[in-house]
Amino acid sequence: MKIISFSEALSLYLDAPLEELRSMADTARYSHIPQQRVSWQIDRNVNITNACVSGCRFCNFHCKPVEKEKIFVTTLDQYKSKIAEMRRLGGDQLLLQGGLHPELDVIYYENLFRELKRMEPSLKLNALGPPEIAFISRISGISCEETLSRLHEAGLDTLPGAGAEILSDRVRRIISPGKPTAKEWCSVMEIAHKMGIGTTATMVYGHIETMEERIAHLFTIRDLQGRKPEGVPGFRAFIGWPMQLKGTRLAVMMEEKGLQLPRVEYGWSKEEEFLRTMAISRIVLHNITHIQASWLTVGMKTAKKSLHYGADDMGSIMIEENVVSAAGTSNTMTAEGMQKAIREAGFEPWLRRQDYSPVDPSKLRSQAIS
Ligand code: SF4
Repeated sequence: MKIISFSEALSLYLDAPLEELRSMADTARYSHIPQQRVSWQIDRNVNITNACVSGCRFCNFHCKPVEKEKIFVTTLDQYKSKIAEMRRLGGDQLLLQGGLHPELDVIYYENLFRELKRMEPSLKLNALGPPEIAFISRISGISCEETLSRLHEAGLDTLPGAGAEILSDRVRRIISPGKPTAKEWCSVMEIAHKMGIGTTATMVYGHIETMEERIAHLFTIRDLQGRKPEGVPGFRAFIGWPMQLKGTRLAVMMEEKGLQLPRVEYGWSKEEEFLRTMAISRIVLHNITHIQASWLTVGMKTAKKSLHYGADDMGSIMIEENVVSAAGTSNTMTAEGMQKAIREAGFEPWLRRQDYSPVDPSKLRSQAIS
């Protein structure tokens, strides 16, 4: 497969006719996944807490830890009922995400993960992300290596690529000044890869970044994956989606400063921007097997199209999702609807786990697929 340079990628992304980009991405997709099939997943997104010191300008979900009357920390009883509901729908995995809560240290998360695994030994935990790992290590007074190692031992199975947004410190200082730098994000991922923990990589575009910063982000991810040790999973998938700006402080700031979205200059619709971004991700990331379409943020119609622009995975039906929904997105999906959508796009659906191993659909209870 051709390994393209930064300038080639930028020029393709900005100037190539959409059909040319589609064709290149489709060829790259079939060199990774020769079958005419698309994966999907059933999991449940649970927010551990909404208390967060980070104060990202695009986040309508968090509360400051001093806003005692507004903050929550999910209780074990709540986990229990959420897990039971997910089981009824055929899922076996929780996507657990923070809040950077200043009182929840490594011991809190060790106890939580152990308790969840005690309740449900076969449960998979796709938990936290580089910002949380860096933050927990800081408030616990231990290294990121020790934090990840202890949490892995306690039950963390895989580490989501959350909090990458755009891996440029210029951008991060403006949109998420409380989050780790780009270098710190990469460093946590590199530690996870060396430990053999499977991860994903993400990109949230469509705010104050430049087109060059988007492409540079992809190259940072590609280089990081290139440094993973032989035989470990590293980034199993890449997921890119447009930022949901509606009603956020970032949208207000952009309006006040007269900043326009990068796509406006190029005359791209939202859909064209997404399809171009999926395609260039597939073309640049020759060393990552799966590219996931974020139906939750772009809607199923556009997500279905993106399966012909390099994507081979539809992600989860997302039984519960709060952070993106808090910024105005309200797409919903059932297991049946997901499979129907994949077939309508011309592919055969296959149900997977977080590590991309297949789930036998006949083992699902009937309500999971109907
Ligand atoms: S996006 Fe995450 S880290 Fe940022 S403020 Fe919201 S909860 Fe906190």
